Amino acid sequence: MREFPLPSTPRVLTVANQKGGVGKTTTTVNLAAALAREGARVLVIDLDPQGNASTALGVDHRGDKPSVYDVLIHDESIADIVQQSPESDNLFCLPATIHLAGAEIELVPMVAREQRLRGSLDRFLAQMEEAGAGFHYVFIDCPPSLGLLTINAFVAAREVLIPIQCEYYALEGLSQLLNNISLIERHLNPTLAVSTILLTMYDGRTRLAFQVAEDVRTHFPEQTLSAVIPRSVRISEAPSYGQTVISFDPGSPGSVSYLEAAAEIAERGASHRGN
Ligand code: ADP
Ligand code: MG
Repeated sequence: MREFPLPSTPRVLTVANQKGGVGKTTTTVNLAAALAREGARVLVIDLDPQGNASTALGVDHRGDKPSVYDVLIHDESIADIVQQSPESDNLFCLPATIHLAGAEIELVPMVAREQRLRGSLDRFLAQMEEAGAGFHYVFIDCPPSLGLLTINAFVAAREVLIPIQCEYYALEGLSQLLNNISLIERHLNPTLAVSTILLTMYDGRTRLAFQVAEDVRTHFPEQTLSAVIPRSVRISEAPSYGQTVISFDPGSPGSVSYLEAAAEIAERGASHRGN
């Protein structure tokens, strides 16, 4: 089995798109599981009050569990709250509980409210590095909105990964998202960049999916991965077993495509390093 190249410093990627149902959570957990399977230590931060990423990674996120809410609002340390996913020894999740729904409002009057996740994450990554258990990747799964939770994710990350569903309206929201990212870059996080675009739920039988994919590649030739995620029932079934498709059905086309996408991300990171 091939192992992917590992980055020399942790790569923090925010998975964002203000549209719901485009495959943010599915992409987050499957790329994380694929990279973990190939030897990387990976943390998933679930920043969506729905907690779908926590569910898919088989991590307990009932209301009474400590969660990312306690990190953002009560300054709890990530190390005390993070849970290992049963998927892999290398895969960890900072879960979201329903309390996170209130955080969007509770953050408003807080000091440095946009930087809260970044501060905690930087401390955690340094602490793990010192303990000889450094992380290679952090994926942040965002809610489908551009509120303070998503802003916290953009400030904590260096890279943005945008999943795009291959359908008619896909490009409509994109310019708004890119405008928001450049606002963040100008005012809050000068090192933020859209590094990766992944085409999801691709249905090869339709001409429309093909056209959307072509359009995206024309506009974003550097960022768009060659791997495309097909529409696949196995991908959508996996979360109900508390699993990613990588472990649920490793040989399925969905699993193979996420492994290919993860390999590209790992290889690009290896050559673009040295910041
Ligand atoms: P988001 O996080 O952007 O809201 P999700 O990842 O939750 O989107 O995906 C929305 C729905 O589509 C979920 O039910 C998920 O299981 C399903 N889904 C995601 N990707 C695929 C795919 N490639 N094939 C089939 N179903 C998918
Ligand atoms: Mg989601």
